[in-house]
Amino acid sequence: MAKPVCLNDISKEDLKKFLGSFDHVFSDCDGVIWTKAPMPGSGDFFKVMQELGKTVHFVSNNSIRSKADYTALFDAVGQEKGFDRLTIPSIAIVEYLKSVKFDKTVYCVSAMGTINVLEANGFKCKYGPDLCPEDYHDFAQFGEDDPDIGAVVFDSDFKVNVPKLQKASTYLKRAEVLFICGASDRLVPLKAGCLGIGPGAFTEMVRAIVKRDFTLLAKPSPTFGHLAMKRAGVTDPSRVLFIGDMIEQDIGLGRATGFHTLLVLTNHTKEEMHANSIQPEYYASCLGDIVPQLKQLLSN
Ligand SMILES: [Mg+2]
Repeated sequence: MAKPVCLNDISKEDLKKFLGSFDHVFSDCDGVIWTKAPMPGSGDFFKVMQELGKTVHFVSNNSIRSKADYTALFDAVGQEKGFDRLTIPSIAIVEYLKSVKFDKTVYCVSAMGTINVLEANGFKCKYGPDLCPEDYHDFAQFGEDDPDIGAVVFDSDFKVNVPKLQKASTYLKRAEVLFICGASDRLVPLKAGCLGIGPGAFTEMVRAIVKRDFTLLAKPSPTFGHLAMKRAGVTDPSRVLFIGDMIEQDIGLGRATGFHTLLVLTNHTKEEMHANSIQPEYYASCLGDIVPQLKQLLSN
């Protein structure tokens, strides 16, 4: 396929061609719009996109952040009611459970953010324990089945531990128990140049133990991409530009769903991008850096 095109030094004609190739912007959040605080110029980028008539939606693998925190961050970048235009794994899991008319209890290996969304939508949840016994013999209790459990959900969980993995593996021995995975990132960016162990590492561990595949309801699954389209009221994936900072999750999702793709190099180097088998169509240092060219084009 064609080499990725750099938007930082693109010609005016090619910039127009780029802008003409999509009607909808779907953007990842962490590492693209904000880290802990908004990244300079990211709000202006979306404002320009909206001035150009593009719709703007958000797609993140982060179900940990509360609605209030998301709302504050969207407000800080000038995207009022941004939460209503956001698709995250916890919402995808709710949609999926509703679609299969699930009426049993969900065992969650996840942070409370995901559990709260499931419970707010009427699903019964069990979770924990957050603490481990000190004695090896006390672990036998986690090998006891619970007939109420009809689904095991994995999503980001900073308190993941052996008892939770043991319980999940025990329930998943029953073939009828649904095995659902939210965020599957094996690595997550912690700070510049530092990748940490992501939730996917633990889901993969349980998958290997129970020898079953999970239903992935997060990036890079096209199922998640299609759900984001449905929520945005978009029917043609070829008119969507997907923006992200992680090659595997973001560009992987974009390519699997048929979106145009833009990688911002806030967590990957240009060399890493070129070396990866998954290539974006476009790349830029960050969203803020391409705002001046876009504004120039708008003022002409
Ligand atoms: Mg990101």
